[in-house]
Amino acid sequence: MMGHSHALSGVVGWMAIVPVVQGLEFYGVRFDLGPGEIIAGSLVCAGAALLPDLDHKSATITKTYGFFTETIGALLNWVFGGHRNGTHSLLFALLMGAMTQALALWSEMAVQIFVFLLVGIALQGLGFGMDKNRAAAGIINALGTAGITLALFTAGTDYSWMGVAVAFGCLLHFIGDIITHMGVPLMWPFSKYRVGQDVGFKTDGPVERKIVTPMLTMAVVLYSFYLFDWPELLPKS
Ligand SMILES: [Zn+2]
Repeated sequence: MMGHSHALSGVVGWMAIVPVVQGLEFYGVRFDLGPGEIIAGSLVCAGAALLPDLDHKSATITKTYGFFTETIGALLNWVFGGHRNGTHSLLFALLMGAMTQALALWSEMAVQIFVFLLVGIALQGLGFGMDKNRAAAGIINALGTAGITLALFTAGTDYSWMGVAVAFGCLLHFIGDIITHMGVPLMWPFSKYRVGQDVGFKTDGPVERKIVTPMLTMAVVLYSFYLFDWPELLPKS
């Protein structure tokens, strides 16, 4: 799938999982997700749904922060054995989740920075990067990202679910690649078998553009109605 659809699948995935995990507790992580956590989780998940493609030079995510993301991308490409290899494995999802969860437990500040970076990536992926005017798009993206991160911070958003959202975002990326022609080596480095190779629809083809992307967009709208208590959230006159 294209970066745009991957990012959208992250938003929809998180919104879909919220009612399922709400109020539950796994290994000490309690899911008490208010509006702030739903929005933050959606964007974190959307950003994470682009992470596996960091190993590709021309992917949306690799271009997001210029030299910074390009360097991380080159490093990941080297460590995980080239494009769509180790970064598309369950091991990668697990590692990313564990790393960010450790970050969340270690420092409040580090989490804020990481959320800022992921929200920027998410907005870029969702289409805030307007191709015709890159400079303006960059500034708008940065302002939007800063605004959202700051709003989430002042709202006292709790990030104890951070690792789960990141690992989940990576898994959603794999599903996106499996349902298109690309195969995903889920069991890397133990097995090179690519799940879903040559099965499904074409990346950026008519099915993705005319069916998958509009359906994901619709799902975001419908879930927004379903998940948020709008009369509570709107300012009272
Ligand atoms: Zn991919």
